[in-house]
Amino acid sequence: MRAIDCQDDVREVLYTEEQIHARIAEMAREIERDYEGREPLLIGVLKGAVMVVSDLARELRCPVKMDWMAVSSYGSGTESSGVVRIIKDLDADLTGRDVLIVEDIIDSGLTLTWLKSNLESRGPNSVEICTLLRKPSRLKSDVPVKYIGYDVPNEFVVGYGLDFDERYRHLRDVVVLKPHVYGGEEEPEPARVEVEEGAG
Ligand code: 5GP
Ligand code: MG
Ligand code: MG
Repeated sequence: MRAIDCQDDVREVLYTEEQIHARIAEMAREIERDYEGREPLLIGVLKGAVMVVSDLARELRCPVKMDWMAVSSYGSGTESSGVVRIIKDLDADLTGRDVLIVEDIIDSGLTLTWLKSNLESRGPNSVEICTLLRKPSRLKSDVPVKYIGYDVPNEFVVGYGLDFDERYRHLRDVVVLKPHVYGGEEEPEPARVEVEEGAG
């Protein structure tokens, strides 16, 4: 069996690499069906969605294009506020395109609500959302999410693109860390995306 990287820091594996790939394959089948005859533009929200986009794009049996966006969401303390700034904008012109926003995780959903309406104002044919993970108990927005990998409990997760202080993005599994990683028993500061710390 493959050794888990950073094993001493991992409290629990929520989803293994194999489970994630199998779920992404299922989502790809749905997306292919829904976009038949069209060429979706996958928009990855940096940096967390890098792994999801790269695996999803390679799993899809239809032509796709890819582009990337980085946003920073300012919050009071640990909550994202929905006040968003674009750090890196798209290269692509969205006129007439079928846009599929790809996210790693939806927490409050406020960042995505803003992003979806921002992209809708650029003249696309459609804008939908795909996320690997969602925390339903934390949702503060009713932004419609068409493709959802897994609903997860309200715990801070890392791996498969998701970071804590820019670490653990490279882990193949989605995991929960041990409290000592955060320097104590208390919860880490989640969901705050800032320029200096790296968006996403
Ligand atoms: P939202 O606007 O939905 O509250 O913010 C979502 C963003 O918060 C995600 O893209 C991610 O950067 C961060 N985030 C939320 N929950 C988690 C989590 O459990 N782990 C990690 N690593 N980031 C999270
Ligand atoms: Mg982060
Ligand atoms: Mg993200």
